[in-house]
Amino acid sequence: MSRYRGVKDIPEEEYVAPGSALCAGCGAEIIARHMLKVLGRDTIMVNVPGCYAISTLFPYTAVKVPYVFAVFGSGAAVAQGIRDGLDILREKRGVNNDRVNYKVVVYVGDGAAYDIGFQSTSAAIHRNLDFYFVCYDNEAYGNTGFQLSGATPYASMTSTSPPLGDSVGNEYGKKDIFEIWRAHRAPYVATISVSHVTDMLNKFEKAKEFRGPKLFVALSICPTGWGASQEDTVRIARLAVETGMWPLKEAVYGEVKHTFIPRRLKPVEEYLKTQRRFRHLFKPVRRDEEISRIQREVEEYWRRVWEKELNR
Ligand code: SF4
Repeated sequence: MSRYRGVKDIPEEEYVAPGSALCAGCGAEIIARHMLKVLGRDTIMVNVPGCYAISTLFPYTAVKVPYVFAVFGSGAAVAQGIRDGLDILREKRGVNNDRVNYKVVVYVGDGAAYDIGFQSTSAAIHRNLDFYFVCYDNEAYGNTGFQLSGATPYASMTSTSPPLGDSVGNEYGKKDIFEIWRAHRAPYVATISVSHVTDMLNKFEKAKEFRGPKLFVALSICPTGWGASQEDTVRIARLAVETGMWPLKEAVYGEVKHTFIPRRLKPVEEYLKTQRRFRHLFKPVRRDEEISRIQREVEEYWRRVWEKELNR
């Protein structure tokens, strides 16, 4: 049975202090807060260059758990060193010693998860490193000016893929990091959204059962880069789920299950219209071909899910 069923079940403990330098309404902050509510005080957070790095500007930090800053491509390699050190301590001091039972979490943006840090992450999964890898996916390089990343969706405007002339913005599709991790046979892989908080908390709770690499990919609304209203973070995240653009799912030892299955999808344009990065699809002229392509790809995905999971 799920441990978290409603707002009253959300733990009151806070391990992220208010007042960090992140933009108002940033999804990365909300995800970190809720992740630590479940993983708790005995967590060591590894961070790399990216938006969340500005939560900790020496000598100040908004994070109330041990925090290590690594170079961009090395989050998972640094996690390996920390895990090894803890395991050696555990052998020396025994499992009941308070100082040895920390969880190690690599908390990174999509630049590190999909692109620059992928090599060290893939190697860590291959070695079956016991760690959490949590990606706040804002679908671009947010803190350096919103450049294209491997997570940028088709037709999004970025500073390196402007929609000029015939160009639609990003011409490539988003990499499927969930499937890439699943192909590595990680014990637990999940997607989460700030709009579905109990789903997120229950997934973090469930992941504690597994020894080995555990991935979370969170759609991280970025009001600044996406050109969205900072009050609308949760509403936009909910629309991403309800239009089918951000499926909520998990895979346990490769077996995929969707944790929210919409019976009917809202039109994708309800989601796209909330963000300036997609404005060129609607103004000055409506680009029906591109909007239909996005809608069609979402529907094809869900048709497969409905056939498979609703007929079980
Ligand atoms: S640029 Fe986007 S992801 Fe980065 S801190 Fe601001 S809102 Fe968050």
